[in-house]
Amino acid sequence: MVDTLRRRGITNEAVLAAMAAIPRHFFLDKAFEEHAYDDKPFPIGNEQTISQPFTVAYQTSLLDVHARDRILEIGTGSGYQAAVLAALGAKVYTVERHEVLSQQAKMLLDEMGFSGIRCLFRDGSKGLPEFAPYDKILVTAGAPVVPEPLKQQLAIGGMLVIPVGEEVQYMYKITRLSETEYKEEVLDAFRFVPFLEGVQKK
Ligand code: SAH
Repeated sequence: MVDTLRRRGITNEAVLAAMAAIPRHFFLDKAFEEHAYDDKPFPIGNEQTISQPFTVAYQTSLLDVHARDRILEIGTGSGYQAAVLAALGAKVYTVERHEVLSQQAKMLLDEMGFSGIRCLFRDGSKGLPEFAPYDKILVTAGAPVVPEPLKQQLAIGGMLVIPVGEEVQYMYKITRLSETEYKEEVLDAFRFVPFLEGVQKK
């Protein structure tokens, strides 16, 4: 898997090492186990998917994670991306709007011993104000627009990485320069599952 990521242009060695260290097959249904290290997304139930490894590597590289960064992830899904961030030394808050997915990810990450990850069942469109500000915020679902609360919950100097668009999403990297100023960069195109408002209970 790491060789494929390198071929596709991922050069951040810390990200590649973190992804090599985390058993992706733990985060997938048994039915897909033998393909767990292919560069492909897979269904995880509730019409959601675990992101393709390239997408995880791309978003994680953009975030420029440092040990002890406080990171908010919107869209826990399987928990794999949260595990990659934690393996890089970050303190991770991850929210998921599907109750079942949130509970499954929490159980798995606890079993795997990831003590630096807090899983919360929540609609991430309002962010997670009680633990703000964050050094980094990562959205792993395709949002029609950038939710204003996420920008507000960034620390000054902090960065939001979010795929924005309807059919196709462009990766936005938004840096908070001051209380009122943000720098916005629009990068490559991707396809994510949709960012939805409200929660889905069991
Ligand atoms: N990071 C995940 C990828 C999951 S796909 C992984 O590594 O497996 C994106 C997830 O975002 C889905 O599980 C979806 O339910 C969730 N999602 C979409 N909109 C959301 C919202 N407003 N708040 C929280 N989670 C959301």
